Amino acid sequence: MNEERRPHVAFLPTPGMGHLLPISELAKLLVDRHRFSVTIITFAEFANKTQDTFLAALPSSISSVSLPAVPLSDLPANARIETRISLAAARSVHALRSILLDLQYSTRLVAFVGDLFSAVADDAAKAAGVPYYVFIPTNFLFLALMLELPALDAAMTCEFWQLPEPVRLPGFVPIPGPEILHPLQDRKNDCYKWVVENARRYRQAEGIIVNTFDAIEPEAAKLLAGEEHGRPPVYAVGPLIRSKAISGEEGALCMKWLDAQPPASVVFVCFGSAGTLSREQTHELALGLESSGQRFLWVGRSPSDVSAAESYFTARSSADPLFFLPDGFLDRTKEVGMVVPSWAPQIEVLGHAATGGFLSHCGWNSTLESVAHGVPMISWPLFAEQKMNAVQLVEGVRVALRPAAREDGVHDRKEIARVVRELMEGEEGKVVRRRAKELEAAAAAALGEEGPSSRALATMAERWRSSSPA
Ligand code: UDP
Repeated sequence: MNEERRPHVAFLPTPGMGHLLPISELAKLLVDRHRFSVTIITFAEFANKTQDTFLAALPSSISSVSLPAVPLSDLPANARIETRISLAAARSVHALRSILLDLQYSTRLVAFVGDLFSAVADDAAKAAGVPYYVFIPTNFLFLALMLELPALDAAMTCEFWQLPEPVRLPGFVPIPGPEILHPLQDRKNDCYKWVVENARRYRQAEGIIVNTFDAIEPEAAKLLAGEEHGRPPVYAVGPLIRSKAISGEEGALCMKWLDAQPPASVVFVCFGSAGTLSREQTHELALGLESSGQRFLWVGRSPSDVSAAESYFTARSSADPLFFLPDGFLDRTKEVGMVVPSWAPQIEVLGHAATGGFLSHCGWNSTLESVAHGVPMISWPLFAEQKMNAVQLVEGVRVALRPAAREDGVHDRKEIARVVRELMEGEEGKVVRRRAKELEAAAAAALGEEGPSSRALATMAERWRSSSPA
């Protein structure tokens, strides 16, 4: 096939590696399995070195181009990230249209795919006459909420956290109001309005692509996947996860340490790419892990509540996460534990035979990576949609245990030790471990040649291919 006539898809991921990674995996599948080529469009104001290095290393059929920076200086200093991103997207419509027109001229452009908060960019797709799709890097649960949101917003007279009854989304266990998506918890905040606006745009897309697989959300899959009158067709194409982690300097040390541990004996503790805990919570977690008596590998971060003045006056830099651990902790636990500062090669850690559990913030990439390796979880959600995920993973999917929090939101050391022991040695631990193993097999099957996710991807690719003659 002539290179120029390959069908071409343009993606506009929401800034952040957690969004770029699954989109790049989807791009690789389109290139390898369906002979497409791809352009990934990025935002200049959210560029960073990790992202640039990552994009530069992608295969040659996946190129990237950056939108020019747009002014955001009129936003208040405390504007939330969702507001910044949505506004950047909305103000980039003209530039995006130009990029799409250029791609139409130079390639066989068959689709433009926005994601979570860039849905407003569909105006650009319309202006350029390109079919517009949405990519959801999370799950059916998030999609179900977004599809219901315009109606919920119109009907509600209070905040989500004030709702007397849990939110019932078809196909899911009920979600208590305070566990609903974090940016929706304050209706007066601009970011609430942006999320609702983005949700409205989802319904105008020609299709919605979701990074999930049927077996992890089976009821919702029956209701959402495929075509239905009144909403765009939905394609579940996951789990889109990498086979190799982005490794920091400490990566080799982690793996060497794991090599020396017995099979399925280690709890991996990691709160995603950016999650941090308070100083008190860091302390409690350390002492809880210690008294659990279990082996652990912990990606430590500096606490979220260290002031600039304090870090200036402390002897060691506040950038050193080990500085904030309880006195003597590292020494007392050196036979059974390792704390790695800031980053570990998570995929490789989860795939290592010594890893037997994952204490996770329930980010969706982490969740998929865990179940794809058959590793059961302890759910410890922090922000974004993580609390909704935690409810489903514990009560719906039953692949995770959740520690109870005190009234002030802190998990104390006793409860942490209890839940860690339960996961690794208890009866409940056995149940979630069995479930994780079932999901591991189902995840592999989903992406096998005849698996449901591969078939959904093939249907979508065929639809794109046939929309524009070669
Ligand atoms: N990750 C990693 N090492 C770390 C922390 C995170 O490799 O120390 C990777 C992890 O494997 C996952 C991503 O970063 O692919 C985190 O994505 P997720 O959606 O779970 O959470 P987010 O970072 O978006 O909160």
